[in-house]
Amino acid sequence: MSFDTVRFSRADINNINLGKRRPLNPLNWADRKNKNNKDKGLAYKVLKGRRAGLTIPAIIQPTGEKFCPCKKAGCCQDPKFYTDLYKSFREINADQQNQLLAECLEIQEPKSRRIDPKNAIKIKKHSYSYSVKVRGRRIPVCRMRLLDTFKVTNNRIRTIISKLESGKVTFEDGRGKTTGWKNTICIP
Ligand SMILES: [Zn+2]
Repeated sequence: MSFDTVRFSRADINNINLGKRRPLNPLNWADRKNKNNKDKGLAYKVLKGRRAGLTIPAIIQPTGEKFCPCKKAGCCQDPKFYTDLYKSFREINADQQNQLLAECLEIQEPKSRRIDPKNAIKIKKHSYSYSVKVRGRRIPVCRMRLLDTFKVTNNRIRTIISKLESGKVTFEDGRGKTTGWKNTICIP
């Protein structure tokens, strides 16, 4: 997919709005506002589709308490470690979040196949390892811990995995780039 994007600076918006009784503010458009809230983990309203009108409650932030039995380094940190990761994750937009999640995943060839692939009904193509990146350093975590730290669904990880497996390397696709921009507003 490709998009023609136009970027408006704050000054451009001010110029457009000169003399307008109802100023144009793309950041206030309902869908954009909702999208931003959704990315931030706040309550938002579904505007389109089958579930239109539904209000999705805000995500309950992770407590960071240990709940998994494993001894991976990333699973045995202080609660603050996880709450900080959650906060910085929710400050970026969905594309950037997906990019970050993709960097948490490592796809590996399965070490051994117990069943001959010819006989297996469902063959596991790859195995995955998970980690969180802190100051450029990878700290291994388990899948449960990864999901709980960012409060993302298994489906979201699965989508990213299937995209990675099909060769996609970047998740920044040009849509909804309004969060994170301070002086520039990007209109797809
Ligand atoms: Zn764990």
